Amino acid sequence: MHIDARKLEDDSIIEGDVCIIGAGTAGISIALEWIDSKKKVILLEGGGFEYDKDVQSLYSGETTGQKYYPLQSTRLHYFGGTTGHWAGMCSPYDPIDFQERDWVPHSGWPISREALDPFYSRAHRTLELGPYNYDFESWKAKIPGLIPFPVDENVVWNKLWQFSEARFNSLYAETIINSKSVHLYTYANVVDILGNENLTKIHEVVAKNHSGKTCKIRAKQFILACGAIQNARLLLASRTQTSQGLGNDNDLVGRYFMEHLEHASAELWLFKPFPTKLYTWSSDTEVRAELAITEKSQRENQILNGTVSLFPLTLGRSLKSEMDLWNNEDPRKSAENFWNDIADARAAAEKITEGSISRAFTLHTRIEQAPNPNSRVTLLSEKDELGVPKTKLNWELTALDKRSIRRIYQLLGRQMGLSNLGRVRLNEFLRDEDDTAWPDDLNAGWHHMGTTRMSDTPKKGVVDPNCQVHGISNLYVAGSGCYTTSGAPNPTLTLVALSLRLSDYIKEKV
Ligand SMILES: Cc1cc2nc3c(=O)[nH]c(=O)nc-3n(C[C@H](O)[C@H](O)[C@H](O)COP(=O)(O)OP(=O)(O)OC[C@H]3O[C@@H](n4cnc5c(N)ncnc54)[C@H](O)[C@@H]3O)c2cc1C
Repeated sequence: MHIDARKLEDDSIIEGDVCIIGAGTAGISIALEWIDSKKKVILLEGGGFEYDKDVQSLYSGETTGQKYYPLQSTRLHYFGGTTGHWAGMCSPYDPIDFQERDWVPHSGWPISREALDPFYSRAHRTLELGPYNYDFESWKAKIPGLIPFPVDENVVWNKLWQFSEARFNSLYAETIINSKSVHLYTYANVVDILGNENLTKIHEVVAKNHSGKTCKIRAKQFILACGAIQNARLLLASRTQTSQGLGNDNDLVGRYFMEHLEHASAELWLFKPFPTKLYTWSSDTEVRAELAITEKSQRENQILNGTVSLFPLTLGRSLKSEMDLWNNEDPRKSAENFWNDIADARAAAEKITEGSISRAFTLHTRIEQAPNPNSRVTLLSEKDELGVPKTKLNWELTALDKRSIRRIYQLLGRQMGLSNLGRVRLNEFLRDEDDTAWPDDLNAGWHHMGTTRMSDTPKKGVVDPNCQVHGISNLYVAGSGCYTTSGAPNPTLTLVALSLRLSDYIKEKV
C-alpha cells in the first residue's frame, strides 16, 4: 500500500506495529521480509519515487578534515535510496574483520563472521546476486581462464567479488506498493523521535514535508534506516527530551565515521604478458578477484585489511581523481562527470598500443579505515528547510591507515619479484616512510560506516549486538553505521545481511 504523506490531513496520526524509517537499501531489505506478515509495518520515506531537488537538498551539510565529496551528493534521497547510484560490487567481510586486533585501536565486533553467514546467503537473494560462494577453487573449475598470479599463498590470496545490478527503486516499488501489510508513506521525512519520560522506549516519530504538513507515527518497534550519516544526524537532532540527542549518553553517536580508501597507489610492470581475466572486469564478468593480504601476514605486519585491484595502465593513468570529479551538489551531475571521465579514459586508452595493456597496470587500493573517534558526524547550528540541524562531517585518517597501504604494496612488490613476474612501483605519496600526509584528491568509496557502532556495552558503542540502541528497548539502527570496523570490501552486502538479521530478531520479539 502506498500513501503520499503530502495528501494527508495536517497533524494526522498513523499507528502500526513496526515503523521503518527510510526506504533505501536497508529499509527496503527489511520491509520485504514483512510483505505477507499479519503485522502492520509502516515504511516512511522522505522522498518520492523520483529525484526531487528540494528533498535532496535536505542532505546538504559541511565537511572538514580530509577533503570529502559534497554531503548532498554522496547519497540519494528517494525511494530505493543510494542503490540508484551504486556500482553493485559485493564481497563478504573476512573473519578477521570482526576480531579484536591489538594493533588496531577500537577494533573487535561483539559478533563473529559466522553469525552473519546465513544472512549473507539471504542477502544474495535480496541483491539478486549469484550463489553465495566466494571460493576461488570452485569458480576456477566453473569459468575457464581464471589464472591466479603464482605468488606465496601465505602472503597474498585472491579475494572474489560478485556484481549486483539491483536498483531497489525499479526492482521493489511494485512489490511494496502491492503489499497489504507494508504501508509505504512517501514524502514522510522524520524530523524528531520522541520517547517516554526516562527515554527507555520510543513512542512516536514526527514526519514533515515541504507542503508544510506534519504527521506523527506511533509503533511498537522503530528501525532507523536512513544511511549512516543521516541516522547519526537524526539521533543527535532528536533533542526535544534530551540535550545531547538520543542514545548519546556517552557522546558516541556520530563518532568513528569510516570510509574505504580507494585510491590509485602503485603500478605493476610485468616482465612478460600474463592472462589477467581473473583480475579484470568487463560487462560479462561473474566474479573478479582482488589481491588481498592474508590474515597471517596482516598479523605479522600489524596492518589493516586491504586489497589491490588491477586496471590497465593506459586506462588507469588517464582517469581523473573521483574526489575532483564528484564535486557537484547535484548527485546526478556528479555521477555524469564520473562516467564521462571513464568513457574518455577508455577512448584514450584504446589509442595506445595493445601490448602495454597486458603488461602494465595501475594498482588501486581498497582498504579499511582504522576506527577513529575524531572522525565524526556532528550538527551545525544552521537548519534545513524542515527545521533539522544540518550535518557536519569531519573526516580524519590516521598514520596506521597510510602505513598499511604502503606495507601492502611492499608485500605485493616482494611477491612479484620473488616469483619473477615483474616489479611494483609505489606512487609518489607512499614513497617517504616518514610522511603521514595524504594527497588532497584521496578517493573514498562513498561508503559511510561506523557512526552508530556496535558494542557489548554502552561505554563503547551506540547499538548492542542486535542493533538495538543501548538503553532504548524498541529503537534499532539498520545499516553500515553499526559497523565496529569497516572491513575492506564494499559495505552493502554486509549491511543487507545485518538488516535481515535485525528483521528476524524483531519478528521474534513481536
Ligand atoms: C557512486 C556510489 C557507488 C557505490 N558503489 C557501491 C558498490 O559498488 N558496492 C557497495 O557495496 N556499495 C556501494 N555504494 C554504497 C551503497 O550505495 C550504500 O552502502 C547503501 O546504499 C547504503 O544503504 P542505506 O540503506 O544505509 O542508505 P540509503 O540507500 O541511502 O537509504 C537511505 C534512505 O533513507 C531515506 N531517508 C533519509 N532521511 C530520511 C528521513 N529523515 N526520513 C525518512 N526517510 C529518510 C532516503 O531517502 C533513502 O531512501 C556506492 C555509493 C555511491 C554513492
